[in-house]
Amino acid sequence: MAESIQSRVERVEGRIKEAALSSGRNPKSVKLVAASKTVPVDDIRAGITAGVTIVGENYVQEAKEKIEAIGRDNVSWHFIGHLQSNKAKYAVRLFDLIHSVDSIKLAREIDRRARSIDRLQPILIQVNISGEETKSGIDGEQALELVREISALKNIAVRGLMTMPPYFNAPDKVRPYFRALRSLQELVRKEAIPNVEMTELSMGMTGDFEAAIQEGATLVRIGTAIFGERK
Ligand SMILES: *Cc1c(COP(=O)(O)O)cnc(C)c1O
Repeated sequence: MAESIQSRVERVEGRIKEAALSSGRNPKSVKLVAASKTVPVDDIRAGITAGVTIVGENYVQEAKEKIEAIGRDNVSWHFIGHLQSNKAKYAVRLFDLIHSVDSIKLAREIDRRARSIDRLQPILIQVNISGEETKSGIDGEQALELVREISALKNIAVRGLMTMPPYFNAPDKVRPYFRALRSLQELVRKEAIPNVEMTELSMGMTGDFEAAIQEGATLVRIGTAIFGERK
């Protein structure tokens, strides 16, 4: 029989705690985002029952249907996929945190849509820390400038950085990219830009979250280890 979602969540929580303690961090400083693209509503509910408090979705329409079914009483919804500007108006109604802002154009649209519903939208800046051409995210060298531009937008609150490093089988190969995102966070933080907080670092997935935590992750986005292989 397949392992239950309950026990998978418990095991992941245990590994998060171990990784935090192994690097002298408070386990409470790391939050689990259960990445649930393509996962049915009942499995997400099972995750929430098991203690998941943040769910991360990649597609606006899919998320909308799931949020309508599950609600938001015991759970916070994050957007972790690539966001198109024309979906910003839905995103500001649906998500407590948008992890994937990587252009001023998208930020302006989020700001405009958030203003129209009198909301302050928390976001992270997605950084293409490896410089791979196929990846979403702003280049590391341009990230500070983007944060400065976005800081002028009144209905957006920048809370930190997010990255999707290249895929390797060995987590230790990914570590330098996590470290680079952490350095960038420090660099931006030192600028002390008004309206900008650099508290969150969203990095680490099923294959590498322990390394990410050891390098400073505050939000780990984990799908497969909780819900099993995606179909
Ligand atoms: C799917 C997804 C994850 C989770 O990936 P797993 O390897 O299944 O843990 C994390 N972040 C993003 C942006 C994703 O799309």
